[in-house]
Amino acid sequence: MSTATRIDGKAFAADVRARVATEIAQIKKNHNLTPGLAVILVGDDPASHVYVRNKTQQTVEVGMASFEHRLDDKTPEADLLELIDKLNKDHAVHGILVQLPLPSHIAEIKILSAIDPDKDVDGFHLMNVGRLWTGADALVPCTPYGCILLLKKHLGDLTGKRALVLGRSNIVGKPMAALLLEESCTVSIAHSRTTDLPARCREADILVAAVGRPMMVKGDWIKPGAVIIDVGINRIDAPERGEGKTRLVGDVDFSAAEQVASAITPVPGGVGPMTIACLLRNTVVAACRQANIDITNI
Ligand code: NDP
Repeated sequence: MSTATRIDGKAFAADVRARVATEIAQIKKNHNLTPGLAVILVGDDPASHVYVRNKTQQTVEVGMASFEHRLDDKTPEADLLELIDKLNKDHAVHGILVQLPLPSHIAEIKILSAIDPDKDVDGFHLMNVGRLWTGADALVPCTPYGCILLLKKHLGDLTGKRALVLGRSNIVGKPMAALLLEESCTVSIAHSRTTDLPARCREADILVAAVGRPMMVKGDWIKPGAVIIDVGINRIDAPERGEGKTRLVGDVDFSAAEQVASAITPVPGGVGPMTIACLLRNTVVAACRQANIDITNI
C-alpha cells in the first residue's frame, strides 16, 4: 500500500520567513522603513507565554521591530483599550496582535474591534472578515492562510476540488472555507451537528480538520488520494514514553490516514509552524499598505 507524502510545514515556514526577511531588508533599504509588530499578552496562561516568546524571537530574526506588552491578568478592559489606541496611533507599529484567550472580565469582541483594521495582522476585526468574504484585500487569519499556502504549494491550482472544512470557528474553520472558496473549490463546512460525518469526509479531495478532538478522523473516513490538512493540536497521554509523559497529536489518525491519502500534514511540524510565518508576512503586507509601498515591487 502506498504511503502519503508528508507535507513539511516546518521547512515551508522557514522558506516563508526567509522571503519575509528579504522583503524587510528591501523595505529598509529602499524606503527607510522597519516594519514593527506589537504583541499584547494579558495574564499568565503558560501556552500563550510560549507562543508569544516564539513570535517575538521570529519577529526579531526576520529583521522586524518587536514591541511586547505583558499585562497583569487583573488589567482593566479600559487600560487595554487605551494601550490599543496608543498602538493604533504609533507610526512605528504596523501590526497589532492581542494574544487570545483573554481573561473573562475582558470582552474579546470589544478588544478585537478596537484594533485599527489596517494593523489587524490576526485578521479577526470584522472589517477584515468582511473583506475576506467579499474577495477584497483582507488581512487573513494566520492559521488558515498557512493552510492555503501549504495546499497551493502541494497541489498548485485548487480549482474545482471538493473541499471539506471540519470545524466552523471564527479563527480557523470559517476563514479557511472562505479562502478555499476564493480558490474556486467547492466547499462544505462540517461541525458537531453534521449528520453522517464520515460520509461527508469521504467526498472530499481536500480535507481540513480543525476540531480539537485527538485522532477523530479515521482512515476509512478519507477518500483515497485526498490531501489532508490537520490543524488540530491535542496533547494526549503517552505511557509508552514513560510514566506521566504526553505527546501531541492532530485531529486525524495519522498512521491510518497516511495509508489512504496522497498527502498529509504531520502534527507537530505541519500547520503549526506556518502560523507565525504568516503572521510575519501579514505584518509586512500591513506595513507596505500603510506606507503606500507596492508589495510586489519592493
Ligand atoms: P474551536 O473549539 O473553536 O472549534 C472547534 C470546531 O470543531 C467547532 O466548530 C465544533 O463544532 C467542531 N467540532 C467539535 N467536536 C466535533 C465533533 N465531534 N464532530 C464534528 N465537529 C466537531 O477550535 P479552533 O477552531 O480554535 O481549533 C481547532 C483545533 O485547531 C484545535 O485543536 C486547536 O488547538 C487547533 N489550532 C491550531 C492552530 C495552529 O497554529 N496549528 C491555530 C488555531 C487552532 P460546533 O461549532 O458545532 O461546536
